[in-house]
Amino acid sequence: MGRIVLEKTTKSFGETNVIPPLDLIIEDGEFAVFVGPSGCGKSTLLRMIAGLEGLSSGRILIDGKDVTQVPPAKRGLAMVFQSYALYPHMSVRKNIGFPLRMEKMRQAEIDAKVEAAAKSLNLMDYLDRKPGQLSGGQRQRVAIGRAIVRNPSAFLFDEPLSNLDAALRVGMRLEISEMHQRMQTTMIYVTHDQVEAMTMADKIVVLQAGVIEQVGSPLDLYHKPRNIFVAGFIGSPK
Ligand code: ADP
Ligand code: MG
Repeated sequence: MGRIVLEKTTKSFGETNVIPPLDLIIEDGEFAVFVGPSGCGKSTLLRMIAGLEGLSSGRILIDGKDVTQVPPAKRGLAMVFQSYALYPHMSVRKNIGFPLRMEKMRQAEIDAKVEAAAKSLNLMDYLDRKPGQLSGGQRQRVAIGRAIVRNPSAFLFDEPLSNLDAALRVGMRLEISEMHQRMQTTMIYVTHDQVEAMTMADKIVVLQAGVIEQVGSPLDLYHKPRNIFVAGFIGSPK
């Protein structure tokens, strides 16, 4: 399960209103992409869903439950950060298993979950390496593995590929799409890259200055952009 509903959510930093009242539904199993220019509020919105940023008003529901006041660790979501945030002194095995050790899960169970995640991410041969001995793409996969072991109801990605070179980015994009097809888990993916949005999304949410300009499938946006901003954004290479 992983249906996420935003109801009239707003966010201000001091006097600055970054997100005016915003309504949005992300269906269970959907791959939703938030796209828009730098500073339009994509990260803020994702952090609000994750619980890392409080709301100024409105509420957020996950599978019908109001989680507005629920702390991040109890929302059942997994955030995959762009800067891999791996522990450099720990092996891949330890990095992936870290959240489970924090939950005091039994070691045998941790080992089984870590190996299943490593298998699905092609990391079996790297379990005993340290992050410093891995490529950028492999490190990104470890970060995803650490999210997978918690069986989240949704994965939240904030520009996860922006540190990778162009060739690797294409490969990782395919891997994340493939992972979504296999797992059928809700994913919200933030990017400023139109190509990523158009190739990965079931549903694209186009943002400008905290306002949703349009929500639709890649084909909807391409063929029926609601305004010049959407047309220009989807039409022009970055
Ligand atoms: P994006 O991810 O789309 O680039 P952000 O969500 O990071 O945009 O930022 C949206 C706006 O909110 C920007 O104008 C940014 O300067 C502002 N902002 C974000 N976080 C804070 C903060 N902690 N304090 C003040 N302003 C912030
Ligand atoms: Mg951002």
